[in-house]
Amino acid sequence: MVATRTFQWLDRHERAVRIFMVPFLLILMGMVYALVYETGGIKFVYSHSMYIPILLSGFMFGMRGGLVFGLLGGLILGPFMPINVATHEMQDTSNWLYRTGFFVLIGFLSGMASDGVRSYLRKLRWFSRHDPETKLPNQNALLDKLIEIANEKRDANFLLVIVAMGKAMELKSAFGFNVIDEIIQQSAQRFEKIALGKLSVYRTDMERMALFIELDSGVQVDYLVEKLAAVSRQAFPFRKIPIHADLRMGYVTFRTMEAAPEIYMQQAESALVVAYEQNQDHIAFGPGIRRTVRDNMKTLGEMIHALEAGQLSMHYQPKVNIATGEIHSVEALMRWHHPEHGNIPPDVFIPLAEQSTLIHSITEFALEQAMQQVVEWRQHGIDLPIAVNVSPRNLLHPGFPDLVKQILARHGLQGESLELEVTERALMVDVARAIEVLTDLAATSVSISIDDFGTGFSSLQYLYRLPISYIKIDQSFVRSSLADTRAGHILEAAISLAHKMGIKAIAEGVEDEKVCTLLETLSCDIAQGYLISRPLSADKFKDWYLALEGRFTCHVTK
Ligand code: C2E
Ligand code: CA
Ligand code: CA
Repeated sequence: MVATRTFQWLDRHERAVRIFMVPFLLILMGMVYALVYETGGIKFVYSHSMYIPILLSGFMFGMRGGLVFGLLGGLILGPFMPINVATHEMQDTSNWLYRTGFFVLIGFLSGMASDGVRSYLRKLRWFSRHDPETKLPNQNALLDKLIEIANEKRDANFLLVIVAMGKAMELKSAFGFNVIDEIIQQSAQRFEKIALGKLSVYRTDMERMALFIELDSGVQVDYLVEKLAAVSRQAFPFRKIPIHADLRMGYVTFRTMEAAPEIYMQQAESALVVAYEQNQDHIAFGPGIRRTVRDNMKTLGEMIHALEAGQLSMHYQPKVNIATGEIHSVEALMRWHHPEHGNIPPDVFIPLAEQSTLIHSITEFALEQAMQQVVEWRQHGIDLPIAVNVSPRNLLHPGFPDLVKQILARHGLQGESLELEVTERALMVDVARAIEVLTDLAATSVSISIDDFGTGFSSLQYLYRLPISYIKIDQSFVRSSLADTRAGHILEAAISLAHKMGIKAIAEGVEDEKVCTLLETLSCDIAQGYLISRPLSADKFKDWYLALEGRFTCHVTK
């Protein structure tokens, strides 16, 4: 440890050490000469003192230094140093040459050892400050840079940007880990070309970069950020395939650094979180962001209370069998009635819960409510399976399959009463684990649907390995299937793909009759959407279902 620190200190102060050490070692050698001479000559033991400056020189200056000082030491105690000062008897040439050779060897060896340690430490230091895959500096290097700026107290405009890759999970799963390194490298090169200040790119995480920029005077931050965003939006070629990486940025600007470096990083991170929430390319940190982050934390706290206080409930939306008009099942969708803020949509509170372990309680609540509802409706002659939405974190939790089985057993139900809706994104987090969990659940006859199908990347890669019963084609394709021919083609391809694999296709977001007719033509199996019914409270659904007398037709006018 002490040696490590000494070498690091030497590396840092190399110039100063050289300037000081050379005269010091020469003086030391001179002193050894004087000592040997004064004590009677080379035949006495003091000549060995010459090892001290030679070893020191190797240690300080490496192999070359060791060689030079070894040679010098040999010469100093060589032709000019008598064997015995009293008798003036001089040394044989072979005698001092042999000693000189020995000194040179010692200097060389000590230098070699010192060089070895130094190069090892330099490598260690490099690895502690760089990402080996892309060779970009890492988070530690960024912190060093920020500390350096803080210490210099330089007055300039600084910009710290955190860049994250939104599609990283899907990309990794579709193309392997290399694709992330490649995109990071390519984007770093693009960023570096934007010459509006001194810019350094750091890879702070597997899927993240940080840009630290000292802006040239007169450069507008907005202009620069817009340029960074523009190059991020362009596709990244990977094995000749153009890839959209969905790069998002959160950034903070400052002049002199008044707070600790970590604070600025946190601020840029907070802005990044909000950029994701608001589906923006880039967002600057400001008082609004601070408020949003604080509000999110508050909401999360209130959600815990909401669970206990009965403010959460489930609404149910029917899915209809297009060919027969029978109601196939219902999807349970969570509702939060907040005493002050009114109804908070699940799009707002579910993503927040997903960021914490609260999602486990939320999903357990949804499963519990849904299965209780199956039992209750049965008493009214309504026998329908209920679909519950499952988040990525639930799927990865080791106790999840057992929890599902326990809830079914508690209500005396078989797996047929439950469908689980899992998004493509959730499957992507850990495909192997997802296959394991879903296979376990499918063995109990619980059906699995892939939600938001078509919005992920690698649909085809894993589809055949999963025990899926349904794919739910994302609303975006369904809703625009008539207006946009490309969306229509995707819809058609997804239905035919599902059928070829023996899977049923569900179209969600069916809002009008024409789309329903199109689905019928395309042999889509199941439809869900406002055309059939909006999500309803349990009681309202019961009334709706009983009034329907079991069948629904898209063709309202028929
Ligand atoms: P999702 O699973 O894709 O659910 C479908 C969403 O589309 C629901 O929104 C539903 O009300 C809405 N929808 C259904 N038909 C139509 C239509 O014809 N047109 C339009 N424009 N929208 C339609 P909702 O209830 O606001 O839920 C939003 C998202 O929140 C859900 O998307 C799901 O991801 C999540 N979510 C809701 N409840 C739960 C839950 O209990 N657990 C989990 N993990 N997520 C939930
Ligand atoms: Ca769903
Ligand atoms: Ca969906």
